Order: sequence, then structure tokens, then C-alpha cells
Amino acid sequence: MGKVLFFMVVFAALLLANPWCPVPRSIATLISPLEKSDYNNPDIRRNHKALKKLCLYRAVFHEGNQNWKMLLVFNHYKPHGAFWFLPHDNENTAFDSAVYAVRRYGGGFLAVDSGDRRYHAGQDPNRNFSDSHSKVPSCCYQKAPSPIYTRNVFRIINAFKKSGMPYLALHNNTNGGGVSILKSSKGVQSFLAYPLEQVIHGKGLKDEDSLVYIAGSHAKPPSRKINRLLHEGMHVKYERVNRANNDCSMSNYVVLGKHSERYYNIEAQHGDGRTQRKMIDKLMEHIMQ
Ligand SMILES: [Zn+2]
Repeated sequence: MGKVLFFMVVFAALLLANPWCPVPRSIATLISPLEKSDYNNPDIRRNHKALKKLCLYRAVFHEGNQNWKMLLVFNHYKPHGAFWFLPHDNENTAFDSAVYAVRRYGGGFLAVDSGDRRYHAGQDPNRNFSDSHSKVPSCCYQKAPSPIYTRNVFRIINAFKKSGMPYLALHNNTNGGGVSILKSSKGVQSFLAYPLEQVIHGKGLKDEDSLVYIAGSHAKPPSRKINRLLHEGMHVKYERVNRANNDCSMSNYVVLGKHSERYYNIEAQHGDGRTQRKMIDKLMEHIMQ
């Protein structure tokens, strides 16, 4: 009887696991198949056709008062490669661009599912990266310690990201909003790829909202890396990270927690998928070189 039950359990597990979409063993306990309700997710509905050719799972876990839910998408022909993180569920163009990137270049992406909202039960998912078991004082937008969130997100990233690949993120911003190449803030320097007068009313790559974020710990910006991106026609923002100004965003965690300066975040205005896809193509070419 025990044997029959054992085989029934194994059989049920095999049915659940999509044979075309094997999940890396290192994240098997974190990942589960989509549930019926997931098919009502607007990101999935919008990309229904394109996603049929990709592998789709959900990642669910808890930490403190937070019930995190994320969508994992990867390319089963070429699962290892570039891997993107999308923390903000209201940034629909970024999701559509990630689907494009994974179909074209392989790899995958992880998107936080917050019911189409930027915040997840009051927490900005991109201000929640820290190994610390106590709240980080400099991280004013972090509500509670987040070692589980941080470990799980990076476990999934590392299951697909090729070792030579940088950490990658995709975001959308608003027209001329806080994130603009025409604005600089303490610790973030802007580098224009085109003359100022062309950027002010620019469209596409020239638009003030189309930019690549990079990050590092040095006061002196990495000029070779910046010049190559500028030469490819993309505005660049260099964020200087240190413990004192750590805001618990992904870029800060890559520098401080992963001791890496290989981070790229492609920002484009909400709705400008055409430019965001173009920037993905340029960055992928840049990384492959
Ligand atoms: Zn965002």
C-alpha cells in the first residue's frame, strides 16, 4: 500500500512539473506551477501569445507580515543567460520588454506580482534588499528586515544568470519625472548621450526618460563603461553607493552585498516599449562584446 501511494505521489509530481520547463534544483522548493487565478493577471493576459513559447512559474514565500508573490519566466531553449529583475508591477511596459528580451536572447526574468501596484502591501520591492536581520537605519523606505526576500530573489537570479552576466533590472518612469537624465541628485551623476538642446524635446533614445543606470562604490565614475554606453546612444546615470547612503535598492545591494559593480537598469517612459526594446538590444550587444 505504501508503495502504491509512493508511486501515486511521484506520478502527481511528474504531472505538475512541465517536462519542457525543468526548474533548476537550487530553486525547486521556491517555485510552483501557476494557479488558475494567475491567468487573470493583466501582465500574463497582455502577453498571453508570447508567453506560450516560454516557461512560466510562480514563486511564493513569506517574511514577517509580507506575503510575496512573483512570476518567473524563462526560455527553455536557452535558460541560462541574461536574467532581469522587475520589482514594480505597475510598470507594464517593462514587463512586455522583458518578455521580448527573454524570447530574443534567452535567460529569464523575475517580476514581483503586487496586483498591478508599485508597492507590495506598503513596501517598495526595490527598497527591500538587505542581508541584515535588523532594519537598516539608512533605508528609510524599508519597513522591516528582509534577509529572506533578499536571499530568495538572488537565489532565483543566480539559478539562471550566467556567471559572466551582470545583474539586470527593467523599470518605467513618468514623463520628465524624478528619474530624468536632466536631473542629478546627491550621489547620482547624469551623462548625456546627445547635446542638451536635442534632449530637452527629444524622443526615443534622446528622451530625457530613456537612460541606463549603473552603480559603483568609487567617487570617480567608470569612464570607459560610461563612454561605451554613450557611444551607443544611451544616456547614463552613475550612482555612487556607500554604506552611509545605502537605500536598500537592488543596485545598492549589488555593490554592498554582492561586491559587484556589474549592474545595469534600463529605464524608459511608461508606454515607450519601442525605445526600451532598442535599449535592450544595445545593452545585450554591449555585454556580449
Ligand atoms: Zn520601477
